[in-house]
Amino acid sequence: MTGRRPKKSLGQNFLIDRNIARKIVRQLLLRPDDTVLEIGPGQGALTRFIYGRVEEFIALEKDWQLASDLKKKWPELRLINTDALLFSWARLKSVKRLKIIGNLPYNVASPIMWDLFSQLITFKLAVFMVQKEVGLRLVARPKSKAYGALSVWVQNFVWPEILFFVSPNVFYPRPRVDSVVLCFEPRKVLLSNVQTQKLARTVRLLFQLRRKQLGRILRTYWNERIRFWFEEQGVSPKARPEELSPDQFRSLAQVIF
Ligand code: SAM
Repeated sequence: MTGRRPKKSLGQNFLIDRNIARKIVRQLLLRPDDTVLEIGPGQGALTRFIYGRVEEFIALEKDWQLASDLKKKWPELRLINTDALLFSWARLKSVKRLKIIGNLPYNVASPIMWDLFSQLITFKLAVFMVQKEVGLRLVARPKSKAYGALSVWVQNFVWPEILFFVSPNVFYPRPRVDSVVLCFEPRKVLLSNVQTQKLARTVRLLFQLRRKQLGRILRTYWNERIRFWFEEQGVSPKARPEELSPDQFRSLAQVIF
């Protein structure tokens, strides 16, 4: 497991503090009948505290060298040498007690969560470490500076909660930013593919022009249904996108498109 130079292109900042690693894994509240999926096990900082404790343990690692090291060290780990960005998360929907964990590569953490949470709502619990700034966006509430497309999207599918912050000193190489550990529970709001696509289009459309008034952004779409939505929700067309709650984005999406 030694002698591999960390690859910056793969966001490889390895956790070197065992106590923090143990504390992160503890948040998963593991049971012997759980199935765990780890994203980016790297050199196994979290893996070692999960291995042997659960019914099934699957891991996705993009770096083939690390993947082959991991396979040798932990033969019963179902290691999939792949890019998590290309993984079809819905494949896991029949797994009974699925828990997901990862010290996510910082460069792709947001798109991984974007896809995962919208494609899979049957997991029990997810625990991710991400850079602090991303973590604050994940939990941000309407009208705050950090509230944006990622907040609205993710909060439509899961309840995110900040657990604790982690200093750059516990990684090698040391990142320039602080990190945060969060947990996520699925909201189990059932959206069809079409409804999900409508939500994605709405989130992108409105946050591209976040400083403009909703009425202006929606001028070319405006019709009686949209007018009624504003009236029913008690939202002024002069309000800005960042004033809408995640649920309001979802219901507005269904009347715009
Ligand atoms: N879990 C280890 C730890 O805590 O020390 C490693 C964490 S490191 C921040 C991120 C890991 O994700 C690296 O092992 C990296 O190779 C892997 N990785 C990067 N991009 C990935 C991707 N698109 N799909 C799957 N794994 C990826």
